[in-house]
Amino acid sequence: MADVYLIGAGPGDPGLLTVRGRELIETCDVLVYDYLANAEFLDYAKPGAEIVYVGKKGGDHTLPQDKINELLVAKAREGKTIARLKGGDPYVFGRGGEEAEELVAAGLTFEVVPGVTAGVAAAAYAGIPVTHRDHTTSVCFITGHEDPTKEATGHNWEVYAKSTSTLVFYMGVGNLPMIVERLIAGGRDPKTPAALVRWGTRCNQRSMVATLDTVADEAARQGFKAPSIIIVGGVCALHDTLGWFERRPLLGKGVVVTRAREQASGFADILRDMGACVHQFPTIRIDPLPDYAPVREAVAGLAGWDWLVFTSVNGVRWFWTILEEQGLDARALGGRKVAAIGPATADALRERGIVADFVPEKYVAEGVVEGLRALGVGAGTRVLVPRAEVAREVLPEELARAGAEVRVLPVYRTGLNEDGPQALLERLEAGAIHCVTFTSSSTVENFFTLVAPDDFRRYLPQVKLASIGPVTSRTLARFGFTADVEPADYTIPALAAALAKAL
Ligand code: SAH
Repeated sequence: MADVYLIGAGPGDPGLLTVRGRELIETCDVLVYDYLANAEFLDYAKPGAEIVYVGKKGGDHTLPQDKINELLVAKAREGKTIARLKGGDPYVFGRGGEEAEELVAAGLTFEVVPGVTAGVAAAAYAGIPVTHRDHTTSVCFITGHEDPTKEATGHNWEVYAKSTSTLVFYMGVGNLPMIVERLIAGGRDPKTPAALVRWGTRCNQRSMVATLDTVADEAARQGFKAPSIIIVGGVCALHDTLGWFERRPLLGKGVVVTRAREQASGFADILRDMGACVHQFPTIRIDPLPDYAPVREAVAGLAGWDWLVFTSVNGVRWFWTILEEQGLDARALGGRKVAAIGPATADALRERGIVADFVPEKYVAEGVVEGLRALGVGAGTRVLVPRAEVAREVLPEELARAGAEVRVLPVYRTGLNEDGPQALLERLEAGAIHCVTFTSSSTVENFFTLVAPDDFRRYLPQVKLASIGPVTSRTLARFGFTADVEPADYTIPALAAALAKAL
């Protein structure tokens, strides 16, 4: 083990962290991170890890470089392993070299984990390959913001101007007019394509292409600011043909996910893949029950039931927790028929070795009852329903009406997540939210317990409301709201697709 790991966190898209980088974040004792390193990675830290933000946004240094160096040395001397996370690559305009020298001088060991640098990644996400046989044979990374205290410039503008290299400027937006002027003065064709990419690889990525003689005005007109990379060269002309990321249907749209944190990741991933900026606002908390004796008893007596009907992923998860605690596995369900109320629940079962005998076409209680009756559930059939402590009673009631002997088995409970709505309200106020999604009636009820309906109404109709299905929409109506989006299929992927269409 080294004392300190200088880790490239990539340009922002969380998928662009390296496998090695993630492994180290998961195991180090201290995490020291920058403004440009995606804060989502902090979730990978092991419990109890110390997390230190050292900032660095333009000129505003939360901690100046020499203090960062001192911090790394001091923490390492305490015998802790340190993950030093930096945006992009640590050695590309990241001052990683200086930090490493400092560590060597202090007699500490270190390793470097290279990262995906913004100059390559933001360009690629904007449809600009930094090299291309038809356009250039080299690429040059240049700082657009040379250390202002330096006496003589390290730049040779003549060389940049005369070369056929693709030029990639980091930290250059503030100096763009000067950069353009020197390149043209040095002899670069004013009609050379030039591009800017801001917040590359993130959901708020924006890019533009112009020519060297127009790019500075155009960037100012379109409000391009840091952090952006500037690319100069023939390859920029490929932007229109090869751009792909900014074509994602939900690019830049702020979408709020209100389901419990434990359940949100699948939905959040789908939305992110579509380009959305996902804001998690978990309204529901999922808690264990105070007493699992009834579940243990039910597990011991599984042989007495004909059907097990699972109504949620959480139902499966908690039922299995008790099953496993008893030293059992899927074989304990041997001979029972199993139903899942929807595809996600069916997947949760499949992961545990059970292929559901029945998954309804329509994912609401009524559909399940109809389908089960067709499969022979009726007079005398014994049906066990592991689920949340409090839930809609339609399913058990309808099954009982069909003559089945039904037992509801609570395996977990849900509660109001009382994390305040402050962050959400700020984003709403800033216009960063385009849609709030509701994936169950409880998400609606809890949302409007946390956010006063009248406060929220002010943001309509700019903010759209998306509901997973008619039951949830009815609950919205009870609070005086109408769902703008409701998919024909009551599933998460269908909801995401409907959203993409509507926004
Ligand atoms: N070590 C980093 C660069 C740090 S210097 C790397 O390898 O990427 C900071 C500059 O990097 C910013 O001013 C901007 O020019 C560029 N930059 C970093 N992340 C960016 C992003 N997501 N999109 C566009 N430019 C980015």
